[in-house]
Amino acid sequence: MVYGMTLQYRSTRGNESNSLTASQAILQGLAPDGGLYVPVIFPKLTTPLKDLVGLSYQDLALQILKLFLDDYTEAELKACITAAYGDQFDTNLITPVHQAGNVNYLELYHGPTLAFKDIALQLLPHLMTTAMTKNNYDGQITILTATSGDTGKAAMAGFADVPNTRIIIFYPKDGVSAIQKQQMVTQTGDNVNVLGIDGNFDDAQRNVKAILNDSAIQAQLATQNIQFSSANSINIGRLIPQIVYYFAAYGQLVQNKTIALNDEVVFSVPTGNFGDILAGWYAKKLGLPIKRLLCASNENNILTDFFHTGQYNKKRAFHVTSSPSMDILVSSNLERLLFEVLDEDPTALSAFMQEFETAGSATLSTTAKTKLADFVAYDTDQAQTLAAIRQTQTQANYTIDPHTAVATHGAMAYLKDTKDTAPMVILSTANPYKFPETVLWALTAHKPLESGFEAIQAVSNVISLPVPKNISHLKRAKVRFDQTISVAQMAPTVLNILTH
Ligand SMILES: *Cc1c(COP(=O)(O)O)cnc(C)c1O
Repeated sequence: MVYGMTLQYRSTRGNESNSLTASQAILQGLAPDGGLYVPVIFPKLTTPLKDLVGLSYQDLALQILKLFLDDYTEAELKACITAAYGDQFDTNLITPVHQAGNVNYLELYHGPTLAFKDIALQLLPHLMTTAMTKNNYDGQITILTATSGDTGKAAMAGFADVPNTRIIIFYPKDGVSAIQKQQMVTQTGDNVNVLGIDGNFDDAQRNVKAILNDSAIQAQLATQNIQFSSANSINIGRLIPQIVYYFAAYGQLVQNKTIALNDEVVFSVPTGNFGDILAGWYAKKLGLPIKRLLCASNENNILTDFFHTGQYNKKRAFHVTSSPSMDILVSSNLERLLFEVLDEDPTALSAFMQEFETAGSATLSTTAKTKLADFVAYDTDQAQTLAAIRQTQTQANYTIDPHTAVATHGAMAYLKDTKDTAPMVILSTANPYKFPETVLWALTAHKPLESGFEAIQAVSNVISLPVPKNISHLKRAKVRFDQTISVAQMAPTVLNILTH
């Protein structure tokens, strides 16, 4: 890239003059002013769509990533992509589309930790270490991450024993499934730490953000040449790789003749932190023919209300549901969408977020709300989640996990309400064996006594899908991390880990 032509990333809350290159934004994670990095000028896809159909996942990834991460050389990106999307995935397609009844499932769970987070988190460590070299940074990067279950494991799997990095994970101790917990507490690697906290995901996420922005902690760590970054989807290095599978899905639908080139499709996305669906919106901005993005929520339905009314209101109860990776009140990535509907005005965005933080609620103007027309939103309760799993099994002989069930219920409700004939693609974000208690409940129609590995066994007795090795191996894996701390202990614990 010619100097001066490089794509710049700016903070949603700050001055454009503080913008960074892509590799610098990946190292930084969250902007120092608490905002999120977004491209100053949204890139243009110049390759015609038809030339993207039929590319391997890896070649497609290069085409998309080079638009956004343009201070990396093609050779650097290729090396990162090759390392990320190899035989740690159990299919060459990486993200295969499966047709079930009248809808299509984009399976994003074929990576090492069996949830969609792997797609970005197998790549991020390579992008980050390459960024360190490119920016002559010779210190250590510490990844601090709050997880509702899947990010933590996927981030550790990506970063374990990566030189010059350390990773510290916080999870809500009662807010993850038994299998998710077992996956995390057995993680190997000398540079990893996992801690349960007495609190929910929002407590974890809020405090991680506070630690990342604490200048006293940063100053202390700088003396040891340690810099913080994030593996949450606030990092553009998490977000951008997720654009790729929307194109991959579209290409497969063209190839298997479900659609003709340029036909519009609807994507239904089980949503938590709004990273996955935002990547879909970025795909649409690049020109992928997406008619609608369906934001599917569980009982934590702040986003459903937001898309229906324009009011973003967190004054409500927090629900622990059977889709824990979506048990989120405040979705970080919504800020990137808000920034755009507020005409990329950091002052307006900061005021909106400030009001939301202090009053607990903020409302878009009518004009701003009309800019959300690409989105529809549905919420799904526990009974509907179970029904969606059961119906998909009996009607299409296909097993889905509770997160995917939330998106399935939303998709069916949308199709019924709108009679839309555009093909529906439902993002399938986790292997059903990650949440065996709920799947068993749905399939047997009564709340099971079994949990964890017993529930897995029981599920495998009734469905034909084999139990993935990465789950069956967990049973004998050694527990390495059993510490639980209070929310107030998070910052001191981080300092303690890093200074010893
Ligand atoms: C993280 C996650 C989601 C939600 O994705 P966001 O990008 O946070 O909106 C949905 N399903 C599963 C299984 C997840 O792990």
